[in-house]
Amino acid sequence: MDIKLQQIMKQIPSMDRLLSLPWVAEYEKRIGRETIKSLITRLLADQREKIKKDPDTAFDADTIAEDARRLIKKRSSPSLAPVVNATGVVIHTNLGRSLLAKEAIDAITAAAGSYCTLEYSLEEGARGHRNDHVEWLLKRLTGAEAALVVNNNAAAVILALTALAKDRESIISRGELVEIGGSFRIPEIMALSGTKMIDVGTTNRTYLKDYENAITDECAVLLKVHPSNYRITGFHSAATREELAALAHSRGLVLMEDLGSGMLIDMSQAGLSGENDPTVAQSLRSGCDIVTFSGDKLLGGPQIGVIAGRKDIIDKLKKHQLLRALRVDKMTLAAFEATLRLYLRGEENAVPTVEMIFRKKEELLPEARRLARKLKALMKKTKVQRYFVDVVPTTDTVGGGSFPQSELPGYAVALSLPELGNSGRLAERLRMSSAHVIAGASDDRVLFHVRTLREKDGERISAALAEILGIGKENCCDA
Ligand SMILES: *Cc1c(COP(=O)(O)O)cnc(C)c1O
Repeated sequence: MDIKLQQIMKQIPSMDRLLSLPWVAEYEKRIGRETIKSLITRLLADQREKIKKDPDTAFDADTIAEDARRLIKKRSSPSLAPVVNATGVVIHTNLGRSLLAKEAIDAITAAAGSYCTLEYSLEEGARGHRNDHVEWLLKRLTGAEAALVVNNNAAAVILALTALAKDRESIISRGELVEIGGSFRIPEIMALSGTKMIDVGTTNRTYLKDYENAITDECAVLLKVHPSNYRITGFHSAATREELAALAHSRGLVLMEDLGSGMLIDMSQAGLSGENDPTVAQSLRSGCDIVTFSGDKLLGGPQIGVIAGRKDIIDKLKKHQLLRALRVDKMTLAAFEATLRLYLRGEENAVPTVEMIFRKKEELLPEARRLARKLKALMKKTKVQRYFVDVVPTTDTVGGGSFPQSELPGYAVALSLPELGNSGRLAERLRMSSAHVIAGASDDRVLFHVRTLREKDGERISAALAEILGIGKENCCDA
């Protein structure tokens, strides 16, 4: 190493110097000295590497200390952290999809901290089946003859296709060869399940005849897939479920539909309906032999996948080896049973996802006004001269691939603080604040959509803003 490089390297602060900084003690309690040391070692090694590659890399000791503090702080608090969802997207995939009802959360707590009847029959004092806790409820709520739950809907599709069509053929419309959420691509899922995909028709039009002409002796399944976020409008046609069912049954095939979201109740009152979006019961009634759907989309429960339909088919799936690898954990089952019981009692409005979707514009307006007043009052306590806070109409969305075309009219509180930089900068500071507020954006303002705000979220937004503006919490969180 040449002399110049050596001298630059010497300016990098030493481990001992960093460990002696005053903030270290606080984090040491949370993650331990050895972990802090290993984080610093890594950081210093990266810094040396950078300088070796480019000796002109600008740095100073304070920046390195600040980088170390930021990294150690990040590792000192939970990484899976609660956030405020002010985006107006109800089933937000990146923010954990559905929130659970209180009943479901209580059921998780009870199952987690105590031995439970997961696979135990109290009547017989012997082994029971974990699926039994929810199967009767699913049958009751969907009209299905039988039902089976697995880890998620992707697992449900893979299990069903593997058990029914491995080494055989499955026919699907080209209009339904979709990719859902980046990693779930229908052609690849079919290949993974070992079934040969026979795609028929065209992207926008597929007739019953196309399916009929493609059926061979090797065919096992007619597959219908909900196109999720993708929509064909205009010149377009598809065979109906009734037609496909009649065809499948006349040729001894299974008609399977991947519904995606899995609605248990009619949501047309919230402005959500369409031929592509039947309830689970409607899909089964129109002739589908089995359907698969998620537990944590429109249903509003925990992450789970359901396969519901004909008993002889479900019995076959229950015996499949793959099921062992896809089975559902006790906490999830407890939450799912509690959620389904709310539907059973007609109390689905206690399911947060359902409640938020059904919230009317008129109910949202007073909430938006209250939040705007709170933020205005807070701004008056600061030295900031130029700011904009106002209630604006917005369109919220269901999310999770459900009803991509339907828009839920709502309201948001728009905020801009030009002195703090553009809206992107403000959005970042809100995210990084202790309350982790995830806001929407429009032009040069951030938007707090009130539809997806939960109790106390107004306080959290207010506290985040107070933190950003450097005024004490005691100034922000009354009223
Ligand atoms: C969301 C979705 C899936 C995947 O469901 P997960 O519960 O995320 O595994 C599969 N198919 C369709 C049509 C979907 O919308």
